[in-house]
Amino acid sequence: MPTSNLDKNDEILTINMFEVGHGDSILLTHEDPRENQSFYILIDSNTKMVDGKRINPVFEHLKGHGVRYIDLLVITHLHRDHYRGIDQVLNNLEVKKLVISPFISQKAAIFDDIIYKYKQKIGEICRLTSNENINFDLKSLAVLLRYIAQHDASRVMEAGGPEQVLRIPSAHNSLKAYIYLPLKKIKGVLHNKIERNDFNLDSFPEMNDASVVVVIDIFGHRLLFGGDSTAPQWREHRRHMKRDGVKNLGVNIIKAPHHGSDRNNPEDIFKYFFHRPNCRDPNIFTLISADGRTHPHKAFLERVGEWKLKPLCTNYSRHCLTDKITSIEGLASIPLEARPFLKQYEKEEAPIPCLGNIELRVSKDGITWTGERKRICPYRLRESDGGLNELDVLV
Ligand SMILES: [Zn+2]
Ligand SMILES: [Zn+2]
Repeated sequence: MPTSNLDKNDEILTINMFEVGHGDSILLTHEDPRENQSFYILIDSNTKMVDGKRINPVFEHLKGHGVRYIDLLVITHLHRDHYRGIDQVLNNLEVKKLVISPFISQKAAIFDDIIYKYKQKIGEICRLTSNENINFDLKSLAVLLRYIAQHDASRVMEAGGPEQVLRIPSAHNSLKAYIYLPLKKIKGVLHNKIERNDFNLDSFPEMNDASVVVVIDIFGHRLLFGGDSTAPQWREHRRHMKRDGVKNLGVNIIKAPHHGSDRNNPEDIFKYFFHRPNCRDPNIFTLISADGRTHPHKAFLERVGEWKLKPLCTNYSRHCLTDKITSIEGLASIPLEARPFLKQYEKEEAPIPCLGNIELRVSKDGITWTGERKRICPYRLRESDGGLNELDVLV
């Protein structure tokens, strides 16, 4: 970790990515000593079970730090691993602005009707089921819909387009924020579903295509938080940006789209995200939020390795076994420290944290990061190490 030359007058952006199994929950805190107060952007929300109790780590974090407001809440799309637990934030904190996908245009005459029907349906399902998890998710969604219904366009922004500038109140700090997706015509599709009596958002095939993406520029770095955005969306985006002469997004820190799905992070999209076809920049970080079961995909992790991007994962994946260790019998060849998690994979359902909660700090001095846990990562192996004997041990 480089020693910091920062003093108390320096502007800083902190990124907290919380370990929430398969799902996203990312808090950006911008502190500028020239401002009276910090600026908070929350991208998605998800919960996790701790000792049989469900907690929302970002809410606990905000509460613990005495934070009373969120300047910008972005719900990338309406899959439950991205909105679960958001009711706690909306009920207890002042959310100054919400950015959502334009499923149901607020301008449309059908808007109130859709929200009403959906809320009614949620109530109906809650009465019919005693499944605590379903009820919990539906409550989160109901509170989110209530916020959308109660606020006008000054508070609820419907994303859509290749690049929208987000207004940040401060005039003199270095942070610039943009929204990059979605592009497809998705307006009204939710309405059409409800008309057909289909209230299951998870079965909506275009839901990931509707993902909103947040881009932050600060101190010459570019951060991209990809939600569950898809490769077809990015190809369309690339066509749009090319017309303006932009061929490459030059991203330094990326929250890998769709939990490290191979299909949605193909080679041509890597080429669009990162400078140079074979990127050797040690300062490109790939944040991966998944429980390690279905995602991230093996081919994606291999691509991250080939491109020499630094993967920072909340949880281990079964692919961390690597080709050299394909079974538990291979345990003998790997360091003692890495063995317990591999054994657990054989029998346990709960995700096994790699770094757990991840924190990155971006300042004029560069980027530093820490993981909640000290873990070994075979994909962060240095090329010269030539094997598993000298693993990059994280501190
Ligand atoms: Zn997701
Ligand atoms: Zn999704």
